[in-house]
Amino acid sequence: MPHRSIFMKTAGTVALAASALLSATAYAHPRAIVRLERLDRATTPLVTPPKAQPTKTSAATPTGPRVPNELGRIPIVEWHQVVAADGTYKVSRERFRAELRELHARGYVPVNLSEMLDKTMDIPTGKTPVLFTFDDASPSQFRYIERNGTLVVDPTSAVGMLLDFIKGHPDWKPKGLFCVLPAAEAGHAFFGDKGIDGQKTAWRFKKVQFLASQGFELCNHTLWHAKLSKYSDAVVQEQLARGAMAIDSAVPGYTVRGFALPYGLWPKNRALAFNGSWYDKKSKRSVRYRHEAVFEVSGGPARSPYDPAFNPKSLPRVPLQGGTKLSTTLDQMDKPGKWARYVSDGNPKTVAKP
Ligand SMILES: [Zn+2]
Repeated sequence: MPHRSIFMKTAGTVALAASALLSATAYAHPRAIVRLERLDRATTPLVTPPKAQPTKTSAATPTGPRVPNELGRIPIVEWHQVVAADGTYKVSRERFRAELRELHARGYVPVNLSEMLDKTMDIPTGKTPVLFTFDDASPSQFRYIERNGTLVVDPTSAVGMLLDFIKGHPDWKPKGLFCVLPAAEAGHAFFGDKGIDGQKTAWRFKKVQFLASQGFELCNHTLWHAKLSKYSDAVVQEQLARGAMAIDSAVPGYTVRGFALPYGLWPKNRALAFNGSWYDKKSKRSVRYRHEAVFEVSGGPARSPYDPAFNPKSLPRVPLQGGTKLSTTLDQMDKPGKWARYVSDGNPKTVAKP
C-alpha cells in the first residue's frame, strides 16, 4: 500500500480579458472564405503513444479498489467524425458507443475544461476524470432532424448518442468540449449548412446554443481549419479572433478558454496561439482573444492540474480513429508508471498524493 498524503486544493484564479472583447452582433457569416483545408493531408501524423516506462512505485492497482492518486493522468480523448465506419479521423457509431461504455465501465467520469483549469473537479472516490473533445463541428457530431416542425437531436449523431448514454447513466453529466469551426466547407460550419447531411444553415447557432445550454463547453479551432504554421501573424490572429467572435455571436458573452490547433500545427509566432487581436473593419472594433488552454492532436493522457508540471498551454490528447484503440491507452493507465491514472479521493478539498 503506497504512502498517501494530502494537501489542500486551491481554486485557480482566472483573470479574463473580457472587457473590450467580442461584439455579439458584428459577426456576419463570411461568404468569401469558406474552405476547409483537407483533413486527410495533415502534416503531423497521429502517432501511437509511446510505451510508459514502468516504475516500482505506483498508485494504481490493476485489481482491487484503486488507490487515490490525484497527481495521476487524465485522458483528453479526441473524436472527429462519427460515421458508418472507422477511418482516418473517423470512428464508427458502434465504436463510439462502445468507447463511451468502456470509459464508464472502467471508472471514468466526464469533466469540463473549465473544471480542470479552475481545479474544481468533483469526482467520486476511486474514479478518474476524462475530458471529451470533439473537433471540426461536422454534422456527424450534431445533426438535427425536423419532426412535425420541431427540431430534435438525431439519435445517431455523436451528441444524440452521448446524451442518450448519459440518460441511462446518471452519474455522467453532459460535459465535454466542442472545438468548432464556424466557416469551413463541406458542412464543417457549426455542424452543418447548405443542406449537407440534411442540415439547414439556419440551424447553426441553435446547435451551438444547445450545446452550451446542456453544459458542454466550446473551444476555438480557427475560422476554417487553417494550417496556422504557414500564415502570417495577421492571418493567424484573424483566424483565431473570428473563430472566437463567431462563438460569441452564437452565444453572446461566451468566454472561449480553449483552442485546438488544426493538425497540431503551431503558428510561427507561438504566442499568437494564446493572445492576439484583429481589427474588424465592419464593426470598426478590435477583436481580442485569449486562450488559457491549447490542445495538441496527440501525445497520450494529460497531466493532472495538481501536478506541478501541468501545462495547459500544450495539452496532449488521445486521438480516437481508425488504427488507434482507446483500450491501449486505458490499459497503460491501469499500470504503474508515468501514465498511471488519476484516481479521486472523493474529497474536492484535498489532493491525494501517492
Ligand atoms: Zn481539426
